[in-house]
Amino acid sequence: MIPVELNDTTVFTFENLSRFPEITHFISTREGGISEKKFDSLNTGFHVGDDNFRVSQNRRILADSLGVDLGKFTFANQCHSANVAIVDSSGQGRGAFDKTDALPNTDGMVTSVPGICLGVQVADCVPILLYDPDKKVIAALHAGWKGTIRKIAWEAVSKMLNHYGSRADNIYAGLGPSNGPCCYEVGDDVYREALKAFGSVKEIILPARQKGKYIFDQWKANFRLLTEAGVKPNHIETAEICTQCRHEQFFSNRALEGVSGRFMAGIMLKKVRH
Ligand SMILES: [Zn+2]
Repeated sequence: MIPVELNDTTVFTFENLSRFPEITHFISTREGGISEKKFDSLNTGFHVGDDNFRVSQNRRILADSLGVDLGKFTFANQCHSANVAIVDSSGQGRGAFDKTDALPNTDGMVTSVPGICLGVQVADCVPILLYDPDKKVIAALHAGWKGTIRKIAWEAVSKMLNHYGSRADNIYAGLGPSNGPCCYEVGDDVYREALKAFGSVKEIILPARQKGKYIFDQWKANFRLLTEAGVKPNHIETAEICTQCRHEQFFSNRALEGVSGRFMAGIMLKKVRH
């Protein structure tokens, strides 16, 4: 990923997606907001116990810095599902100013409508951005261990193929900062669920030092899901930034012990000016 210094904050962009001038995309950081303590400072999540006014201001700071109207963003009330919503123009602005009208029961969004910025919010879960430059279709996904095991990445690619006529080998993907294999310890329950979902968990789940504990490599798991769906390995960029290790720059729910702000991954097709 490449850091991009904006007026009031710094965001990161994927190298592979940066090659396409017709899209705007970003991964936000903790920098430049007005929230305090575990939300310090650019918390973009309404649902985590922070002051709503501050979250609104933070979102505005980020949107202004990106040069995107906050009313163009679309958010989901994320629930660790593999539900991927097709967003049309009526979805523009959902959840931007208030969580009550965010898309319900949704962890992935796909659209081909220019001018809608799809945003997911994370703190350790994997944010995934997808783009098909041929059919001009974008997607933003939230994949924690549950979403990963429920195969949201595979679902999203399927939606792009079936609904928009994308070809999987045209799709590019970026996997953002999240729990890395250096830190993401899970229990037997996750191991068993993963085994059920993936068949083989070779390279995805490794034994941890402590007995009965495992390391879940969510980056490799989502990489596998994307390639199984037909995305070319060399079209997938993994940020390889662990949020727990880098919690001063990115929110980490584990590093902040269960109370944490959320950073955002967003993607938008620009409107073509005639
Ligand atoms: Zn780490």
